[in-house]
Amino acid sequence: MRLIRCLAVSITALAAACASSTTPSADLSGIDADVAVLNGAPASPEAFTARCDALLGHASALRTALEARQGPASIAVDFVQYDRLYNVISAGVSDAALVQETHPDPATRAAGEACTTRVNAFYSESTLSRPLYNRIAAIDLSGADAIDRHAVNRALTGFRLAGVDQDDATRARISALNAEITEIGLAFARTLREDQSAVYLTGANALAGLPADYIAAHPADAEGRIRITGQYPDVFPILTYARTDATRRAVYEMFSNRAYPDNAPILASLIAKRYELAQLLGFGNYAEVAMADKMIGDPANAQSFIEQLAVYARPSAQRDYDRLLQRLRQDDRRATALQGWDRGYVQELVRREQYNLNSQEVRSYFAYNNVRDGIMTLVSDLFGVEFRPWADAPIWHESVEAYEVYENGQLLGRIFLDMHPREGKYSHAANFPIRNGGPGAIPVGALICNFPAGDHETGLMTHGEVVTFLHEFGHLMHGMFSGHQRYAQLNYAGLEWDFIESPSTLLEEWVWDYETLSRFAVNAEGQTIPRALVERMNSARYFGQALGAMRQLGLASVSLNYYNRDPAGMDLDALYRESYARYDLSPYPEGVHPYANFGHLDGYSAIYYTYLWSGAISADLLTQFEANGLRDSVTAHRYRDEILRQGGARPAAASIEAFLGRPYNLEAARARAGEIAFNGRGGACNAPRPSL
Ligand SMILES: [Zn+2]
Repeated sequence: MRLIRCLAVSITALAAACASSTTPSADLSGIDADVAVLNGAPASPEAFTARCDALLGHASALRTALEARQGPASIAVDFVQYDRLYNVISAGVSDAALVQETHPDPATRAAGEACTTRVNAFYSESTLSRPLYNRIAAIDLSGADAIDRHAVNRALTGFRLAGVDQDDATRARISALNAEITEIGLAFARTLREDQSAVYLTGANALAGLPADYIAAHPADAEGRIRITGQYPDVFPILTYARTDATRRAVYEMFSNRAYPDNAPILASLIAKRYELAQLLGFGNYAEVAMADKMIGDPANAQSFIEQLAVYARPSAQRDYDRLLQRLRQDDRRATALQGWDRGYVQELVRREQYNLNSQEVRSYFAYNNVRDGIMTLVSDLFGVEFRPWADAPIWHESVEAYEVYENGQLLGRIFLDMHPREGKYSHAANFPIRNGGPGAIPVGALICNFPAGDHETGLMTHGEVVTFLHEFGHLMHGMFSGHQRYAQLNYAGLEWDFIESPSTLLEEWVWDYETLSRFAVNAEGQTIPRALVERMNSARYFGQALGAMRQLGLASVSLNYYNRDPAGMDLDALYRESYARYDLSPYPEGVHPYANFGHLDGYSAIYYTYLWSGAISADLLTQFEANGLRDSVTAHRYRDEILRQGGARPAAASIEAFLGRPYNLEAARARAGEIAFNGRGGACNAPRPSL
């Protein structure tokens, strides 16, 4: 039994609605009855705790009944019941995750965390239950078709990776360790989420270069100080536009030190406990556990993959770096290196001066409301679905929007869009699965993001934010299409995790396409984005990408190295510096502790490489669209049916082969990286995610 923990960023599976004020009797008919029991709006911490109690009671009854079954085991009874159990636990994990990350009331968020602890403990107990395992292992697969065989074998692998075949004492220790790991992970996420880091800037030029709306939103206080928080909408404009070096540096350092020092001992403990768990499971280290059921297979393959990409990206990255440093030296002759806080700013200068591309001009065409509508229209056009407002949806905050997704007049799924920042809310951008779907059930999902809100006056987004929006929407739609499998656990959460980012990364391509952009990108005067501007965006697109790829390789290396060894005596700072600086070309700054806010170190543990791996696979998938046209509906529908809709019903490699007509390979990724190296264009495998 496996539950996906952390899609996109650091999330566990589903959750439906939790609202502080809306009606608890929202129409959720069509959602699996086992799961629907728990829907509704928690009006208080007590209400949510009661719901958590009810879910656990229900799951416990299902598990006990299955454990007690006697006689021959069958797919029709035992595996179907097991799938129901899976779906109920999944719903509990998701509900708790959603409440803890988004509920407006801090006490209810705390109740969400408490529920996460309990549901994870129940899940851990279930994965270690010998009677449960024995029932599934006893299923006679002779005569079973490929899907049943895949589903059962995958479930058994999950049990074994959890340690079900260890002796009683070891299983008890594993169970206790899992509980501790959950708690530590929650503490790590909470510290980051509730971090209140801020800097105060002074001086008349502190915000020089920033857009007018940003300056208006950040007035100086009575003492002339301007407060900049560690929230993305505060930080990224500074790193892109602030002319004053001291401003960029102060904000960069504050941002890089979020959750430090509090998260340092928490992370050390998380790594140590996972190592202990790996040992109990008979593995050499935790990275081996994390990769055993992934496409990549093991840490050695991950290391060679990272090395291989670095070899391809480094020459171009070095050229990008030299070019940026040269530009920086035009303004500051004393500059000897391109610091981390210079990169975004100087890159913007070069784009403006050498590619005639001004990201503020680009931004003027991307008002949130238009972008949202444009992305939904794009997805409708490509994949043949329709979005309709979901009346009386159990939203948890007034800013949350809800839609139903229809395909050929049939309800395909339901989605929530919780897209704007507020205090205490999850601070990154992610897809939160809420309901898996499965037989007779409808999948539900939510995007939890932090974009500006509204029209051209308040809601202008950078093109990078538009890319992120579409990326996350890709995860959301993967959940909708894959949520109609024979078993709930065969939706996309049943895929190898290192494939999960491929469909979303692929979808990013469309917001570089003029035909697509021209349908929704308009400025305040109603003028459509000019074709020439989109062409300039594309010619600048790959500039700096190799440098970004090297940074991603640095992060992948940190993630791998924290988990691929015995952590006794591990110096988090030294190992971070060593792993990261091996790839990133900028000098490693003094006095920063970025691991304290590297959220993936909890949810993704050793497998941050998955972004790059998925990117390499998505480059291969893109070859079909490059051959037939991005908006070719035959190709898009084939992609929808062979990749998205298949979810975890077969191994990722089989779905990829069905779509491509051949096995996947890394040639497209190599060609791209090589293109960067030789021609100075082409993206190394993956667009960097918005992070420092
Ligand atoms: Zn993603």
